[in-house]
Amino acid sequence: MVTIKSKQEIEKMREACRVAAIAQKAIEEKIKPGISTWELDKIAENVMRQNGAIPAEKGYPSGVKGVPAFPGSICASVNDEVIHGIPSKKVILKEGDIISIDLVALKNGFNGDCARTYIVGNTDKENKRLIDVTKEAFFEGIKYAKKGNRLGDISHSIGQYIEKNGFSVVKEFQGHGIGRSMHEDPGIPNYGKAGRGIKLEPGMTLAIEPMVIYGKSGILELEDGWTIISEDGSNAAHYENTILITENEPEILTIL
Ligand code: MG
Repeated sequence: MVTIKSKQEIEKMREACRVAAIAQKAIEEKIKPGISTWELDKIAENVMRQNGAIPAEKGYPSGVKGVPAFPGSICASVNDEVIHGIPSKKVILKEGDIISIDLVALKNGFNGDCARTYIVGNTDKENKRLIDVTKEAFFEGIKYAKKGNRLGDISHSIGQYIEKNGFSVVKEFQGHGIGRSMHEDPGIPNYGKAGRGIKLEPGMTLAIEPMVIYGKSGILELEDGWTIISEDGSNAAHYENTILITENEPEILTIL
């Protein structure tokens, strides 16, 4: 069921999203060669707790028998890791790496979700283009995030933009509605047909998140049951914001 948030609920969404954005900022400032993804995890968790939120990803159930709940406060996915990388003291960032950080702040019963791909030090122009196109795909998509349009208009626009630039859309994972639950209806694929899907209405809060592979499409799951990597070993990028559908232009809640 797609939930339409009341004015009061929207205020709570705004606050959870603000904390998520603050946590991203804190991480961005600390990313450099030599830091571990475990240290980034602690930074994010501390910032969220200092701001009255908890990291909603910590303890998130896998839904798969034998796979423990997610142990981290953030997902930290380096280079060919697409999403759901587990923070670790053993994963030390190196000059030229790229790292996707996906985090969710839960405050006053509501969730704010955002992801960014960062460059460690400096990197090559292929990685830079991958990161830029992924971010641009989000902004292409939300041009259609307007009352009366259909969900497929967003999906179509994102997918087209990624493919036009020669990269591959991750089709096995998608964006989602968000609110009291981290994942609500509707699912929001990063490809699809314009004019299809539900009609967008003011009060919907949606996490829109292009996930892009530099090379061929196709993913694999590591033995930890969480980490998703590109099948061809090429790098991947992720860009996500929680947005609000309004009477006019969409509002991006996870950008400060
Ligand atoms: Mg996310």
